[in-house]
Amino acid sequence: MRPKDLATEATNTWCPGCGNFAILNAIKPVLADLDEEGLVPIEKVVLVSGIGCHAKIADYINANSFYTIHGRTIPVATGIKLANPDLTVICFAGDGDIYAEGLDHLIFGAKRNVDITAIIHDNRVYGLTTGQYTPTSPSGFKGRSTPGGLEVPPLNPLELLSASGGTFIARGYSHGIDLLKEIFRSAILHQGFSFVDVLQVCATFFNLYDHYNQRVRPLEGHDPTDRVKAEEKMREWDYDSDGTIPLGVFYKKDAPSFGDNFSEQNQREIDIEDAISKTLERYI
Ligand code: SF4
Repeated sequence: MRPKDLATEATNTWCPGCGNFAILNAIKPVLADLDEEGLVPIEKVVLVSGIGCHAKIADYINANSFYTIHGRTIPVATGIKLANPDLTVICFAGDGDIYAEGLDHLIFGAKRNVDITAIIHDNRVYGLTTGQYTPTSPSGFKGRSTPGGLEVPPLNPLELLSASGGTFIARGYSHGIDLLKEIFRSAILHQGFSFVDVLQVCATFFNLYDHYNQRVRPLEGHDPTDRVKAEEKMREWDYDSDGTIPLGVFYKKDAPSFGDNFSEQNQREIDIEDAISKTLERYI
């Protein structure tokens, strides 16, 4: 399979220069490679998207997909994974979608270590509704709902995910596709809840290309199994300061996933029910 085999006939309606193109162009070769290598057959992949500009990605990839309602990618993906653990489930969500409306689901997805991947198109603005602030918009952000400038500081989603027990936490950028592909591949292959915050530039309502290009740098010499160091790295840039912005996998840990526990628990219950019915058969 080649990436072009994953193309669809849907007309792409993203604005020219939108960072969503980079996410689309990074995920397609990753999915094609995983299929070619026999690691993740494409028919076993389910893409789940939320509401917002990002969500159209489901229209542009020729794979099983599910459009959810606003903020509900994680519970839908969790249900799909628990119903059929053989599937590889990948959520695409926006920052307004998952850090506002769906924040509790994100926290519990990480806390339970559900074996799914969440890729966040974090453009730090509501693009589809033409430019309101989101939980990751920086202080002072002037948008349609904050013409005088936003007065509250942004959320640092990486720190939040670490506090929630996330077992794979990464940050990418929608410019520089090789690193994005590397991160997506590791996230999909990770057994457990994988979280990737992608600094995805909204070229129309919050164009941060120049700002990011001057500040991003890959994480180097970092041990992603060291949680204390990982959290220090996550705090190096708090989505509001003017310093450099590290990109890459901050934290990675092997741990049993919710799906494993769920299946084991189900099996235990089936065994108990079986034993009870056999006992009853003997005496009735
Ligand atoms: Fe992309 Fe922004 Fe246009 Fe939406 S409004 S398609 S996020 S550039």
